[in-house]
Amino acid sequence: MGRPLLSIAIPVYNEDGNLETLFTRLKTVLDDIDKSYEIIFTNDGSNDNSLTLLRHFQKCNPGTVRIIDLNGNFGQHMAVMAAFEQVRGEIIVTLDADLQNPPEEIPKLISAIEKGHDLVGSYRKRREDNLFRCIASRLFNFLRDLATGIHMRDQGCMLRAYRRRIVDIIVASGERSTFIPALAMSYATNPVEVEVDHEARLTGKSRYRIYDLIRLNFDIMTGFSMAPLQLVTMFGMLVASGSLLFVVYLFIRRLIIGPEAEGVFTLFAILYLLIGIGIFCLGVIGEYIGRIYQEVRHRPRFVIREVIETGCTATENGDE
Ligand code: UDP
Ligand code: MG
Repeated sequence: MGRPLLSIAIPVYNEDGNLETLFTRLKTVLDDIDKSYEIIFTNDGSNDNSLTLLRHFQKCNPGTVRIIDLNGNFGQHMAVMAAFEQVRGEIIVTLDADLQNPPEEIPKLISAIEKGHDLVGSYRKRREDNLFRCIASRLFNFLRDLATGIHMRDQGCMLRAYRRRIVDIIVASGERSTFIPALAMSYATNPVEVEVDHEARLTGKSRYRIYDLIRLNFDIMTGFSMAPLQLVTMFGMLVASGSLLFVVYLFIRRLIIGPEAEGVFTLFAILYLLIGIGIFCLGVIGEYIGRIYQEVRHRPRFVIREVIETGCTATENGDE
């Protein structure tokens, strides 16, 4: 198989209700573009029929479809990373398997790449998610902008196109708890963002629960910014100076008016607040330490059970 021009990377986790429609729509779009392409599906430990469907696509389209079957569920970004390690194309496009990103928007991304951009981000015209997700997303976009200096209009939209060079740098970075769009933005020299449509999930539910969303945003914050650590330090300094003033005030008050007994509960309230903040700050520090721990352990970021493609069916172990 020669090198195709386009590589489409799609992470798949329990999407058996969407894959047929996705594949048909995607194939129509790609055949129309008239450029050589490959589609890489990463099966991220699905426990439904997804892998069987993917194998079927691969069998019927041996020249264009490749499957990376991961050994378990490593998360959307690691699934994309696994595909990035295997892509052969010069232009790489990522999209979700649930049809929230319409494949029909791909030509728009490719033409932006062909105009000379090394990264094409996207923002959703009208987001088809519930109100909570939309509000949370706006808030996290704002915080990320503030803390990391990485400017993206819509970090959550995975319909993106990359020049090969950017993908190579991302792979070489060897990052694990990472967020690919932000990583790409930090390496791109000439990024652009285009507006894309967004649809409701065809079938199934979003895999991201509140817990996952919080984890993901911790990945973005701690992975791309030291601001949380620095804020904690600044805050500690502020509290320490405030407490010092308070102690001085109480001391003087004691000399002039005498000891105070009332207002004990106010002090308790202040104390509990500070203890709460203290625990949170410890947590923030812990987030960084946890990441350092993961890095030094040096375990593989994900484990590939099998790469299914025509010619050979290779079994691989780890990525490092
Ligand atoms: N996904 C994955 N591994 C996971 C969770 C999700 O590969 O652990 C895939 C999923 O199949 C889909 C994409 O990542 O193709 C986006 O997931 P989802 O639709 O659940 O996220 P949302 O659109 O709600 O952000
Ligand atoms: Mg989705």
